[in-house]
Amino acid sequence: MLLGVIADDMTGATDVALMLNRAGMRTVQVIGAPSAGASLPDADAVVVALKSRTNPVAEAVADSLAACEALLAAGAKQILFKYCSTFDSTAQGNIGPVADALMRRLGAEMAIICPAFPANGRSIYQGYLFVGAVPLHESSMKDHPLTPMRDSNLMRLMAAQTKAPVGHVGCATVLAGAEAVKARFAALAGDGARYVVTDALTNDDLMVLGEAVAGHVLLTGGSGIAMGLPQNFRAAGLLRQRAAPVSLSAPKGRAGIISGSCSTATRGQIKAAVAAGYPALKVDPLALAAGTQTAALLAAWALAQPQDKPFLLYSSDDPAEVAAIQDKLGRDKAGETVEHAFAETARLLADGGVSKLLVAGGETSGAVVQGLGIRTLEIGPEIDPGVPWTRVVAGPDLVIALKSGNFGTSDFFLKAWALLD
Ligand code: ADP
Repeated sequence: MLLGVIADDMTGATDVALMLNRAGMRTVQVIGAPSAGASLPDADAVVVALKSRTNPVAEAVADSLAACEALLAAGAKQILFKYCSTFDSTAQGNIGPVADALMRRLGAEMAIICPAFPANGRSIYQGYLFVGAVPLHESSMKDHPLTPMRDSNLMRLMAAQTKAPVGHVGCATVLAGAEAVKARFAALAGDGARYVVTDALTNDDLMVLGEAVAGHVLLTGGSGIAMGLPQNFRAAGLLRQRAAPVSLSAPKGRAGIISGSCSTATRGQIKAAVAAGYPALKVDPLALAAGTQTAALLAAWALAQPQDKPFLLYSSDDPAEVAAIQDKLGRDKAGETVEHAFAETARLLADGGVSKLLVAGGETSGAVVQGLGIRTLEIGPEIDPGVPWTRVVAGPDLVIALKSGNFGTSDFFLKAWALLD
């Protein structure tokens, strides 16, 4: 293995695995923190998908360190700690504490902070993270059910989560090329900086940054930063050129969609699917909590639908409705109730012959993958930036796509099926 990636959620893991796969690294995604001594599959890059974005800090750190040990034992030469391109984190972390722990374990002197993903509109300018044309804190992320983002300045966001000094490399330096960036890293290190926020507005910037961090043992960022890493392994003669897959052969069976994502993009995609006549059932967290809606009922409804169109099960709602439900159930209980129900529903659906599944929502995807008992995924063709179809290698016989809430065009639920043979 050349590159080991520790991803803090399931869709983020798939997203970065896709990026590496497209850039010519054979990539496998492993679900959950590997147990001590467990061996990892052989590949150019292995992405360990954790569910460590919002769990307690100590747990997130322990899982990340376990993943790091397994990746190092399997020969990883560089570790990427991958988080969301919108820097999703709570006031307590977990990005800072996990990065600190990895830095200590790896003896890293400096690590970049680069959540930029220009293909999906995430760019960093003067250390401020933008989502499309607006700063992060003005985007829909300000209302996220679990990690509302109320600041856009990455230096400030990181400084609130770590005691280590945070520096900044501006876009003028990045434009000047990899050598200029390396010189700036050295100057910042001389000033005591341990983390460095790097501006990035375009894919070219990410390629420059990729080249500049060739010697860094630890990187932190979004999936975009992975774009510039394979070139380093190729330049070192460690990686051959390889084409990315364009379609995926799916096992025979029904197709369906599960969505627990309340993000703006997902809600638009649901609208489009409903307008296209997909049989759709809205899941009500209050009814789930009261036991009047159950996983068994949801699965039975889905399996009773005509098979000419994929079915759609969704709890997705607008911020006002989500807030009302959270007021009644509590934020954590609301999320857990929906996640548990969808995890169990997915298991029943797979047992009932569903073999092609789209899942929307990072936390939701984590819960569904756990419910299905999936251990390993092989990365297939890209549906939209950041979202590939994947084939289950260890687990039930199905193909599954895990979509982060804000990803995908409005016809995502309609067009994804065309990539399956
Ligand atoms: P995204 O990728 O869009 O952020 P996630 O699945 O990561 O989506 O997060 C959405 C969270 O909101 C999950 O914990 C989910 O269970 C919860 N949730 C889903 N629907 C509702 C709802 N109607 N009310 C409250 N919480 C909800």
